[in-house]
Amino acid sequence: MDPNRNKTIDKFHQLDLSTCEQEPIHLTQFVQDHGFLISIKCDDLQIAQVSVNIETQLNFKPSELISQKVTILECNGLEEVVQLGLRSQEFEQLNPTRVWMAKKGNSTKISFNLIIHRSDNLLILEFEPYEESDWSMPLTGLLNGTLLKLKSSQALNEMFEVMVQQIKRITQYDRVMLYRFAEDWHGEVVAEAKEAGMEPFKGLHYPASDIPIQARELYKKNLVRFVSNVNVNPSVIYPEVIPDKSTPTDLSLSVLRAVSPIHIEYLKNMGVSATLTISLLDGDNLWGLIACHHNSPKFLNYEFRNACKFLSQVFSLGLNTKREDDDTKKSINMQETGHLLFEKMAQSWDVVKGLTGDKPNISDLIDCCGVAIIIDDNQSILGETPSSAQIMKLVEWLQKNSKQDIFQTYKLSSLWQEAAEFNHVGAGILAIRINEKSREYIIWFRPEIITKVNWGGNPSKPVALSGNGEQKLSPRKSFQKWTEQIMGQADPWTRMEVKVATKLWEDINYILLQKSAEFRRLNAQLNRKNEELDAFSHTVSHDLRLPLTAIKSFGEILMVDHSQKLDEQMKLIVDRIIRSTDRMEVLIKNILSYSRISKGSMVLENIEIRKILDQAIEDLTLSDRTRNVRFSIGETPDLRGDQTMITQLFTNLLSNAHKYTRQEEEAEITINGKESSDKIEYQVRDNGIGIDLKYVDKIFEVFSRLHDDSFYEGSGIGLSIAKRIMDRHNGDIWVESEPGKFSCFYVSFPKTGSLK
Ligand code: ADP
Repeated sequence: MDPNRNKTIDKFHQLDLSTCEQEPIHLTQFVQDHGFLISIKCDDLQIAQVSVNIETQLNFKPSELISQKVTILECNGLEEVVQLGLRSQEFEQLNPTRVWMAKKGNSTKISFNLIIHRSDNLLILEFEPYEESDWSMPLTGLLNGTLLKLKSSQALNEMFEVMVQQIKRITQYDRVMLYRFAEDWHGEVVAEAKEAGMEPFKGLHYPASDIPIQARELYKKNLVRFVSNVNVNPSVIYPEVIPDKSTPTDLSLSVLRAVSPIHIEYLKNMGVSATLTISLLDGDNLWGLIACHHNSPKFLNYEFRNACKFLSQVFSLGLNTKREDDDTKKSINMQETGHLLFEKMAQSWDVVKGLTGDKPNISDLIDCCGVAIIIDDNQSILGETPSSAQIMKLVEWLQKNSKQDIFQTYKLSSLWQEAAEFNHVGAGILAIRINEKSREYIIWFRPEIITKVNWGGNPSKPVALSGNGEQKLSPRKSFQKWTEQIMGQADPWTRMEVKVATKLWEDINYILLQKSAEFRRLNAQLNRKNEELDAFSHTVSHDLRLPLTAIKSFGEILMVDHSQKLDEQMKLIVDRIIRSTDRMEVLIKNILSYSRISKGSMVLENIEIRKILDQAIEDLTLSDRTRNVRFSIGETPDLRGDQTMITQLFTNLLSNAHKYTRQEEEAEITINGKESSDKIEYQVRDNGIGIDLKYVDKIFEVFSRLHDDSFYEGSGIGLSIAKRIMDRHNGDIWVESEPGKFSCFYVSFPKTGSLK
């Protein structure tokens, strides 16, 4: 016996439940003691490893076998099957092979079932005792019978029953259960065949932690596992790691591989001595298990285990077809709705309108009680949802707690306590984040469904601390039925629903992308047109100036040099001509300066606003000495900008204030500036005629005038120039006003100064 054996078995038992989730079970180097394992190198068929129980089974010391040719075992039938397998690389189809071997020093050959598979460049040979079946009915007959029954089952439940009954007949375990995984990986026993007098487990639920994630992964690879006796210590493989390799041999597909000690403890706590577990797959996903329990040790021949594997595959196929029928109908409906929504979004160029318009709308896409579409602070609601304040808080929570674009839970309040307030309309949510940076979400809500669940033991205590003072975890001891009233949970979102939501997320992003490309294109087109227009108005204004000056001069010549030849009527007409040319000159000057503002180069410098204001006020006062306007100047912080433009800005604002207070007996204009951490803001306030706020956006457009032409002369360009100046300084301009009382224009500049 290998001297390391006891030491390594201790190591096997030292693995505790805290390591359960991380434990690399597939690398476990232990095999069950009812058989033995030999790994040989594919190229030279030399023995690389053996399980140490080969000593009790065949009288060979492990160390004397390592590096020997496998022929040393004098095993009849071995070499042929190895060569056959190596040639075809299809060992699965050759398993099991019946072989004969004698113990060392003994001549009587014993019969074994040899099961071979490949792991990297090793062949894993596993020898199990060959037991003649005492079963009266041939296996093929049983299988045929089962297939017929499965075929004629109408509903899924019927298929479940057939499976447990037939597997119990084939394997003769005391209890056979069909265990189905839920979305959260907890499981429920949905069918059971058991010996009379045993406590029923059907309808019981088991927490997800009972079958940890890496065990579930292995269940997908290795469809049948069995433990023949939980009370026999496993046998370690020697050497644990082959000298020229860095990791232990991968035994995922081994039939003898020992199961985790925690699982053994779990089974012992349940009072089970032997188990057989058969995986049930739905496509590539683990759908459930058939768990067979026996109260005493039990060995089951490979052929029988293989028959179970065959049935599990037939079941999986049947499951697929039956579920696919249902799913296909649902999926087609969902896809059609999704398609219609896509078309609506694309047609209206408005995602929200497209999703929330006439039926079918977004609430018809996925089964829910309500949907909310949140774009920044605006919410569009369909159906029953939490209040808008609760939705806003939920969005904040999602922003903080979910990094993914798709988030789903059917028990939100278990993650975020505050959500319990709206369990009746939002115990479950499925959310898609449209824009990572801003608050743009679509959230489907599902109401709470209160249910009773019977657990096989207290689900909140899937593990217990062992009592000897060591904080070591072990599986729970009690499997007493435990009834729980489940609150705060909605129907889980199905994989298909999440898929459909993901597709919608992709569609929305596609539409938004197209939209922004279209906007960019239109914008570029608009800019080009604007430039063309600017160039055009610049040329036209420029070219008009000359003939206009000529008209004016000729008018003046007529008035001055030939006035005695003109009657009063003619004089009036000539005077009109001269005044019209004056107005036209102003207009042309303004148009020119508007187009210059858009294109002209700028120089960023420090500007003393006080000087500009003093000059502008002086000019205004001189322009009309009949008026008595009170100008008050408050704070005048300097600012950084283009001197010419800023002068024009303040001149325009002040001359408007001057002009539109014309009717006031006591006209008053105040200018005040203030400085904050990042901005400099000025206001120009007058107590003139004011502006109807309905037109407030209009006044910054070219040629927009709100007041009577005959009384307030002007071109409607001054404020559009001011607006462009502010744009080019990356600043803002806006107005507050009350008709008949006051107007106050504000301009705000980035403190550091900025030009574009
Ligand atoms: P305008 O040459 O007509 O003054 P602006 O572009 O400077 O052109 O102003 C556009 C319109 O905004 C004006 O026609 C006027 O109706 C309104 N407006 C501008 N400033 C004031 C003000 N201080 N008080 C009242 N209305 C104003």
